Amino acid sequence: MPQSSDILIIGGGIAGLSAAAALSDHAQVSVLEAEDQVGFHASGRSATMLHYALGDRLVRALTLASRSFFDIPPDGFSAVPLGRTTPVLVFARDDERAALEELEADISQFAQLERLDERGIADLCPLLKLGEGGARHGIADRDGIRIDQHALLQGFLRQTRRKGGLLHANARAATIKRDSGVWTVATELGEVHSAPVLINAAGAWADTIAAMADVEPIGLAPKRRTIITFDAPADADTAGLPFTKTVGDEVYFGGEGGRIFASPMDEIPSEPTDAQPDDYEVALAAFRMEERTIVNVERIHSKWAGLRSFTPDRRPAVGFSHDAEGFFWLAGQGGFGLQTSPAMARITASLIAGEQWPVADVSADELSPVRFR
Ligand SMILES: Cc1cc2nc3c(=O)[nH]c(=O)nc-3n(C[C@H](O)[C@H](O)[C@H](O)COP(=O)(O)OP(=O)(O)OC[C@H]3O[C@@H](n4cnc5c(N)ncnc54)[C@H](O)[C@@H]3O)c2cc1C
Repeated sequence: MPQSSDILIIGGGIAGLSAAAALSDHAQVSVLEAEDQVGFHASGRSATMLHYALGDRLVRALTLASRSFFDIPPDGFSAVPLGRTTPVLVFARDDERAALEELEADISQFAQLERLDERGIADLCPLLKLGEGGARHGIADRDGIRIDQHALLQGFLRQTRRKGGLLHANARAATIKRDSGVWTVATELGEVHSAPVLINAAGAWADTIAAMADVEPIGLAPKRRTIITFDAPADADTAGLPFTKTVGDEVYFGGEGGRIFASPMDEIPSEPTDAQPDDYEVALAAFRMEERTIVNVERIHSKWAGLRSFTPDRRPAVGFSHDAEGFFWLAGQGGFGLQTSPAMARITASLIAGEQWPVADVSADELSPVRFR
């Protein structure tokens, strides 16, 4: 006999778990996760920032709508607030000034920004090279958050369980069928689960899950991103470092437990897989750090990679599919899946369980996967 629930979610990353917590207010929810632990893929490999220097208006609106959740999380979350306030500094050379001004105009509708000259940049981030060819212009948002990703994931899982929801680990969906209004998912280990609503929150594998269910894919593109950590200069105050990024997508860095983390902001097309760092991007991260800062990257302490998955318009896909009743997409969270997860979960609960629509500036049509048919 299949184990039946009202809603079956494929994927125990931040998308699946945040949706499970929200939907467990209304229904019996089961989450199937292929790995033996939650957050093994993208959700456990991120830079864990909440900031507004990425995405477009819609992504920023989803981020803003999620912000208060991190400041005052509900019961069940072990950390209050859910992260550490961390300034965000975006800097530019002289020739990049116009791009910085454009970004400033975009972000200023969502966050309070300060304009910084060289002196202000040096005060906030003493590691940057200044002067000719260096950081000449900056914008700072003093109110970014370095998210506690462990507390975030575990908090959503705890909430789900408290409300009667179930997590099945080591439950890789292998076949998906729909019959008489019910989705039936068989796992590789032979467990069978069924529900009238199936949520596809499988991250980089979301199009693979759709194909398995005979649903039209949305054209999801998983892209690899790499992060390295290395020793900071002896006198550097890593805890005080802002999350610092070039105005173009070249490099970002910040403090990481007495060390520095950095990414070359790579977007390497990939199959859905257990992404591993490539030597080239590891070297590129070190090179770009040395190019833009006074730091010598002498010994790389750790390195990892994860997949950020994008829809064709780089906005998330949230909503029911047009070609299979009860098949719900929750995919394409790109590089903003943690920071938008509270709002995305409430949007999911609104579309499936009829909760009030939570984000006034974003419409269901803008998020609907039907736009890719
Ligand atoms: C290097 C890097 C830096 C990032 N920085 C940030 C940041 O600073 N801020 C931010 O908000 N976001 C950031 N992101 C993006 C963020 O991590 C993602 O948007 C988010 O984790 C996506 O969550 P998800 O649940 O959709 O995917 P995942 O976490 O990948 O979860 C999908 C899950 O589905 C499971 N699954 C797949 N197939 C099956 C199957 N057949 N059966 C059962 N389960 C299955 C997988 O095992 C996986 O656990 C970053 C990402 C990377 C890689």
